[in-house]
Amino acid sequence: MLSFLRKSPADGTTIRGTFAHGVHPPEAKDDTSKLAIRQFPFAPSFVVPVSQHIGKPAKVIVREGQKVRRGECIAEPDGFLSVAMHSPVTGTVRGIGPVPSITGRMVEGIFLEPSAASSQEVMHGTPCDVATASVDEILTAIQRAGVVGLGGAGFPTHAKLKIPEGKRCDTLLINGVECEPYLTTDHRVMLEHAADVMVGLRYLLKLTAAKRTIIAVEANKADAAEALRAAVPSDLQVEVAVLPVKYPQGAEKLLITALLGREVPSGGLPIDVGAVCTNVATTAEIGQLLPTGQGIQERVLTLGGPGIRDKGNYRVPIGTPLRFVMETAGTTGELGHVFLGGPMMGQAVSSLDIPVTKGTTGVIAFTADQTGPLTDRLEYPCIRCGACLEACPLFLNPSRMGLLAKHGRYDEMVAEEHLFDCFECGSCTFVCPSHIPLVQHFRVAKTQMRRRKAKA
Ligand code: SF4
Ligand code: SF4
Repeated sequence: MLSFLRKSPADGTTIRGTFAHGVHPPEAKDDTSKLAIRQFPFAPSFVVPVSQHIGKPAKVIVREGQKVRRGECIAEPDGFLSVAMHSPVTGTVRGIGPVPSITGRMVEGIFLEPSAASSQEVMHGTPCDVATASVDEILTAIQRAGVVGLGGAGFPTHAKLKIPEGKRCDTLLINGVECEPYLTTDHRVMLEHAADVMVGLRYLLKLTAAKRTIIAVEANKADAAEALRAAVPSDLQVEVAVLPVKYPQGAEKLLITALLGREVPSGGLPIDVGAVCTNVATTAEIGQLLPTGQGIQERVLTLGGPGIRDKGNYRVPIGTPLRFVMETAGTTGELGHVFLGGPMMGQAVSSLDIPVTKGTTGVIAFTADQTGPLTDRLEYPCIRCGACLEACPLFLNPSRMGLLAKHGRYDEMVAEEHLFDCFECGSCTFVCPSHIPLVQHFRVAKTQMRRRKAKA
């Protein structure tokens, strides 16, 4: 699983090696990769869930009827593993109550109505100067800006960037791989906000004290690699590495293997092998927000898939109802499946009554005609072809796990097949000729095991 170098025959660019296994789903990025980021219209109402991140929900600090400004903090971090929430609009708090989330659980949310008379200018806060701020001041500024991993994981970024005592970061990796089909937000951010990425890098370098910085981009985004190289300031040493196109290369542990030839141990973190990895859009966001003291109140996402009429990359206010997004973008026929995120690792939504959150990388829609042949197809028994073993980037045995899952033998899945190492990339499901929904089985098994643990 070591990385290697080779020359691209086309332009002489050095292309890095990659990790073992993985798959090549159709990229399906051409519809939106050339479309510049546009502002999405404001909805007539918004709802901001206070839990959009891994960790403790933020604490609401506004009350019903209160006037708020766009960018104003409306919920404060509650403890270290928590981040602030900011109002996406200038308007009025219409209520505080339960809202549905993608998981089907109800979470607390703040309902907002925009003011028709407002220019929706964003409120600035206290700037954090990278030259003079201490490490703790930068970490606090990132937490108060509400920054979480914009690649979809939703982990609070300040927590990820705090180097644990006794650990050392030698390499800072900026993840611009975006290997999920259809998604092109990171691509556009790298092209249009390369300067912000560099500003963000300065903050990250101060936090990590890394000696080496690599920005990773896949070969299907060569223009983004060029834009980044051109934006590197003369006083920074930044390598822009181009990787072969392969799924799921954007998973940080695989990216570390591909670039550094290091393997993050099972249950370990990148810092255990001397690396810190941050998504490129998150880095750009830090570069935009911290110098002005602003908080996250919108994010760039891809509206794509054959079911969307006005495809594109849009800057969408956080809390915009998905129903408004779909109605505004329009559909090309009767709606079938809608995914938040890409079709490989994203989640199909069961209701359009959920809002866009900080973790929404894209809204990918298919019409009923397009999803019918996929969802209605028959599942056959496992023929032991081994394709799923060849696809799994973690060298797990999806075939055996699938058989165990079918019989509810979840304990064996964990003890013998390392179920919890599976990060649900869907590569095994993608290649299975018997159409066995392996990754869905693994999700159910994990949920059952977590429930059992909680009960115990
Ligand atoms: S979903 Fe899990 S088991 Fe399947 S290929 Fe991905 S990591 Fe391996
Ligand atoms: S790919 Fe499907 S049919 Fe082939 S071994 Fe894996 S589970 Fe069985």
